[in-house]
Amino acid sequence: MSAYDYDYFVIGAGSGGVRSARIAASHGAKVAVAESAALGGTCVNLGCVPKKLLAYGSDYHAHFEDSKGYGWDVDIKSFDWPTLIANKDKEIERLNGAYRNTLEKAGVEIIPGYARFTDAHTLDIDGRRITAEKILIAVGGQPRKLPVPGGALAVTSDDIFHMPSLPQKIVIVGGGYIAVEFAHILSGLGSEVTLLYRGELFLRGFDDDLRKALAEEMRKQKNIKLCFNSDVDHIEKQENSIIVHGTDSTQHSCDLVLAAIGRDPKTEGLNLGAAGVETGKSGQIIVNERYETSTPHIYALGDVTDTPALTPVAIAEGHVLADRLFGKREERSVNYENIATAVFSAPPLSTVGLTEAQAAEKGYDIAIYQSGFRPMKHTLSGRDERTFMKLVVDRKTDKILGAHMMGLDAPEIMQGFAVALNCGATKADFDRTIAMHPTSAEEFVTMRTERG
Ligand code: NDP
Repeated sequence: MSAYDYDYFVIGAGSGGVRSARIAASHGAKVAVAESAALGGTCVNLGCVPKKLLAYGSDYHAHFEDSKGYGWDVDIKSFDWPTLIANKDKEIERLNGAYRNTLEKAGVEIIPGYARFTDAHTLDIDGRRITAEKILIAVGGQPRKLPVPGGALAVTSDDIFHMPSLPQKIVIVGGGYIAVEFAHILSGLGSEVTLLYRGELFLRGFDDDLRKALAEEMRKQKNIKLCFNSDVDHIEKQENSIIVHGTDSTQHSCDLVLAAIGRDPKTEGLNLGAAGVETGKSGQIIVNERYETSTPHIYALGDVTDTPALTPVAIAEGHVLADRLFGKREERSVNYENIATAVFSAPPLSTVGLTEAQAAEKGYDIAIYQSGFRPMKHTLSGRDERTFMKLVVDRKTDKILGAHMMGLDAPEIMQGFAVALNCGATKADFDRTIAMHPTSAEEFVTMRTERG
């Protein structure tokens, strides 16, 4: 009989933790998971899922407008934010229940409460002492607060999902995924959005042509104002409004400020010192390629480490770790190559593999194929919106190094191309693939002329 209460104790029932707990239990381990909030973590409760539901809600605005060119006469009376939020909450509750069922069915004990280390094998969960042979830290991250005077006046993405009403005017600070996605969501639902980004062009890390193409599209939208090279100096509350003061002396009056300036690992309450678990500069737990922390029987994965902060990455890591630890499957590993990712903007963008700049920096001799066009849907809708696609090809091997798209359905399209890139597809493979007509995606297999 084990000297410990559990073989495997997982702290955090988010994407990575739940998967790892479930798989470990399926291999016969005695497993428990502690969670201080709702089951499902950021993705289910305050991230991917509610964000996508709100983005669908926002998209309807354009669908109604676009339908006129197709003969529909739609009378848009109003939009009701509380209805959307209540329906979104119902769906999240259903998912919380699904996570509970999955864990319980697998034989994982769920312990509500906040876990804190008292030593390397012992945790205190709201006064209950628990010991475990192996412990996984999968507590995720939390939104960063705006580090300027008055920064506390800004809300974060955690708050926005439960706002009592839609702001008339909102200033969004940041130029990453969350800033751009909420600019789309809130402008589509009726808010006037000003996006302040401190750099030249938002979405740093994405292909430059894609970033430019999206900025161009967003500038055409009447409820969005993009302000680049604009950093926040301070924020001030006035009687009926909030004023965001830029470092360039500009002032932006609004009724809500959203800080979307990145996320930090959520480690501060865990008392990691008691377990000898080391963290890095930004608070992330340092792990080796086996997800072992500086205390080898304590593991960490997902957003609390510095692997890509994406749900499917945490899930893959959690699964692999449980297979290795309890399933005798040492050969299992996570493939971090060619992770496709999407920004649910309007139009959305999606990308897999290297950007042109990254490929050049790595020393590849590259050929670029790209195409910009008005998608067929908008020939009748009359919407002035373009689609942009780009392939980055290694001349030496003919391999596709990167595929990038901004346009309708880009995220749905790119998942398949991620498979192709992982299989080592070449430009010749793309060229010999018969197009599916009429689609936007077919452009990826019909681009024949190299960019000059
Ligand atoms: P990101 O890391 O994507 O972007 C952060 C943005 O904030 C950058 O534009 C950054 O600028 C800017 N910034 C950072 N610090 C400051 C500061 N002190 N003042 C002003 N601006 C600042 O973070 P997000 O918060 O948007 O998202 C967090 C993570 O969540 C993402 O990285 C992603 O992994 C994940 N996510 C994924 C989504 C998806 O898959 N669709 C959706 C939402 C989130 P600069 O570029 O100059 O550093």
